[in-house]
Amino acid sequence: MALVDLVPETRLFIDGRLVEAKGGGRFENINPATEEVLGTTADGTTADLDTAIAAARRAFDESGWANDPAFRARCLRQLHAGLLAEKEQLRSIVVREAGAPVALTGFMHVDGPIDMLSYWADKAGNYAYERALPDVSFLGQPVRRILRREPVGVVGAITPWNVPILLNVTKIGHALAAGCTVVLKPAPDTPWSATHLGRIASEHTELPPGVLNIVASSDALVGEALVRDPRVDMVSFTGSTATGRRVMECGAGNIKKVFLELGGKSAAIVLDDADLTTVLPGAAATCLHGGQGCAITTRWLVPRRRYSESIEILRAAFQGWRYGDPEDPANLQGPQISRRQQERVLGYIERGRAEGARLLVGGGRPAHRGFFVEPTLFVDVDPRSTIAQEEIFGPVCCVIPYDGDEQAVRIANDSIYGLSGAVYSADEARALAVARRIRTGTISVNGAQWFHVDTPFGGYRQSGSGRENGEQGFEEHLETKAIALPGAAST
Ligand code: NAD
Repeated sequence: MALVDLVPETRLFIDGRLVEAKGGGRFENINPATEEVLGTTADGTTADLDTAIAAARRAFDESGWANDPAFRARCLRQLHAGLLAEKEQLRSIVVREAGAPVALTGFMHVDGPIDMLSYWADKAGNYAYERALPDVSFLGQPVRRILRREPVGVVGAITPWNVPILLNVTKIGHALAAGCTVVLKPAPDTPWSATHLGRIASEHTELPPGVLNIVASSDALVGEALVRDPRVDMVSFTGSTATGRRVMECGAGNIKKVFLELGGKSAAIVLDDADLTTVLPGAAATCLHGGQGCAITTRWLVPRRRYSESIEILRAAFQGWRYGDPEDPANLQGPQISRRQQERVLGYIERGRAEGARLLVGGGRPAHRGFFVEPTLFVDVDPRSTIAQEEIFGPVCCVIPYDGDEQAVRIANDSIYGLSGAVYSADEARALAVARRIRTGTISVNGAQWFHVDTPFGGYRQSGSGRENGEQGFEEHLETKAIALPGAAST
């Protein structure tokens, strides 16, 4: 599939207008597959952020947006139609600026995320914002009660670069549907996956000024200023656990509601009755999009009594895995996002070797340009070693042998993370029993995919707090108000 030429929006979207940064600054956008500069983006500063937050505050407090679900549903449908009209431009953007393999743009990067907006439009329009609780009596007096859900207010949304359109659309979809207003601060590595949404919003929707603001910046401290600002009621953050900790600290100043989707180190448990030839080739999917997915299963737990046959299947799968130019539909793995991420991943590979894991496939960087890392397979990995404990965010799979289901469960749960996982067995009931014991927000049994807009997604432990998607994700953006009235309801 040929990509269309890039004609991205590179300005900020503040108070309903597409604008340059106040300071006039711009920063470069690099194609990670070629190392070429694609262009520049307006470099938002705290002055731009200040205007954006003021606009979002005013739109929430004064525009009526918060109290008009039918209008919100209409605007979200318009946004959905606008994204559909710009779908091929968005595909070019995400392939070129994020190095996303074009073959993955349907499900993960473009078409899937756009479809999600119709779910959020429906949710805005159909949700029951008020309901009655049963009448009670207090000191002999009858009391009626209404439970009312109201939007939290101004949401500061901060996103990473790995699946930028999905995450930007997800943040915007939840918050706007619920009646919040938004200031979105995208990752500096993938600015156009956000700024282009500003143009679509301005050209295709009736969104009142200030309801949606997009402030790209090369400066992470602009994100921090967004978190600290007392005019912002809630922060919705997706990114690394290290930054998530910082966000939590910065939000503490005014007891801000902090929603976090963070890192993972998910385990796939292959039980000893599983059909290895069917299951194990799937381990190479650790390398999808360069392993830059928070919920990818990067630890593969394999029964020791079937270890040698397992390793041979895994070796063949990794050796046969194709990677390279993300514009070639045969490749499911493109580059790492940046030189810094490439070096970081290679550093972990060195660490794995130094700590005694056996490198079976890959481990290096190819000679050609682009921030690529070879599909990499480590076996005999100690479950307590660095590469088995820390999130690498690269195409690196750690194979860990285990003895018995109990030990597999213990190893899988021995992590600061708790995002996702997988269990494989010829006996579904046995796999389900193991899945129930894994301390993660999602888990797949025998390859079934849990990812869907109405499936709550998020992490236990240091993988985050709160859930995105589904009814629960929507309600994360709502406050709860209980109203008491005198007298019993008339029947
Ligand atoms: P990151 O934490 O470095 O950055 C994420 C965002 O936070 C960026 O926009 C960045 O500019 C901003 N930021 C940086 N410092 C900040 C600060 N002090 N205050 C406020 N904002 C700040 O993460 P990354 O490297 O861009 O993305 C990779 C990480 O994201 C991985 O750990 C991955 O697991 C995680 N992730 C999680 C999910 C999920 O849903 N759980 C989804 C995708 C990615």
